[in-house]
Formats: sequence, structure tokens, C-alpha cells
Amino acid sequence: MEDKSQDTVTFALPEGALPIQIVLDELKSLYPHARYDLDFSTPLDLLVATLLAAQCTDERVNAVTKDLFQKYRRAEDYVAVSQEELEQDVRPTGFYRQKAKQIRAACQYLITNLNGEVPRTLAELVKIPGVGRKTANVILGSAFGVTEGFIVDTHVGRLVKRFGWTQQSDAVKAERELMRLIPQQEWLGLAHRIIYHGRAVCVARSPRCAQCTLAVSCPSATNR
Ligand code: SF4
Repeated sequence: MEDKSQDTVTFALPEGALPIQIVLDELKSLYPHARYDLDFSTPLDLLVATLLAAQCTDERVNAVTKDLFQKYRRAEDYVAVSQEELEQDVRPTGFYRQKAKQIRAACQYLITNLNGEVPRTLAELVKIPGVGRKTANVILGSAFGVTEGFIVDTHVGRLVKRFGWTQQSDAVKAERELMRLIPQQEWLGLAHRIIYHGRAVCVARSPRCAQCTLAVSCPSATNR
């Protein structure tokens, strides 16, 4: 018989919390191919896409970056054009002035400090203007296959509180607690699956607990 003992989560959880192993198993079966939904070919593409994704859907970002990434291939390309030209190129993603400014600042930082290359460590990534831990974790995990932290975006932050895994509203503090509770090899896949579940079922305003297969064990279920 297959030995699954090494996969079993044995970390302590707050009383009444949704068992981590149930979430791991259930979300894996619901969303086996969960991934970050922004399209990219290079780490620089992903950095730019994550900056554009603020307050914008992934679909819209992907529609814009299809052409953008053909035009701008290196960090130098983003600073070689005028601010106004880049603004027009990213305009459909909203907040385009701010986003163009952020992209140019990030690229200028890469050129000045890192030969135009996107770094491979969390410590270096969070020094880039506009890059916080969430974006750094996304780039590390999706572009380099490295997990140094747990991605805590708005969905993850909301769901892990509903699961009873943490009471922290601060993303960085919540991330630290998740890193202590969950085995590192699960961090990236689980974060992506929680994001999918947060979009499809455990939505922000009125979670669809009646349709949720976690409801029987979830301390926040409204239909028990
Ligand atoms: S039971 Fe409700 S609150 Fe709990 S995870 Fe499912 S949708 Fe979210």
C-alpha cells in the first residue's frame, strides 16, 4: 500500500479551525491545475504583469500584455520610451499613470542595481520599488520555482481567517503564521488553490457555503 505518512500535516491549529489536510485534499481535487493566471514568458514580464494587475482583472491584464511584452522585452525598453507612451500602452488596466510610473521606477532600479535582471531572492525582490512580499512570492514561485514565503493576497487573507487558521488581518503577520502551520512544499499550490476557491465559492461579500464542499468542517460555514 502507498505510504502517505510523509504528506500528512501534523502542525497544531487553533481549536475549531478547518483541518489543513482537509483543505489540501479538497482543493487539490477541486482545482488540480490551479496556477497564477497572469501570462508571461520571462521574470520581467511577470513583474510588470503583477504591477498591472492591481485593481484589474487578470483577463484584462493578459489582453494588454499580449502586445506589451512584444514591444518591451528588457528593463531598458520600459525606460527608453516616454512616461506618456508607456501610459497609453497600459491604459486599459486602469490607474495607468501610476502603473506606468511604477513600472519605470522598478525597471530603473533593476538597471541601476542588478544589470536589468529580476533577482531570485525575496530579500532582493522586496527592495524593488512597488514590490511587496506578495508580488515577490508570486515572482519567486511562478517564474523561478522557488518558495520562500506564502502568497497572501486579498483572497488568501480572507479565506484563511474564515478557515480559522489565523486571526491576523495584516498580510505579513498572516503569512508568518501560515508558514509555521503549513509544510513548505504546499505553499505555492495551496495559495493558488485558495485564490481559485475565493473567486469561485468563498467570495468576499456572501460566501456560497451551500455550494462549498468544505462547509462540513468550516468554522465560518453559514449553512450548518
Ligand atoms: S464553508 Fe463558507 S466560509 Fe467556509 S470555506 Fe466554504 S464558502 Fe468559505
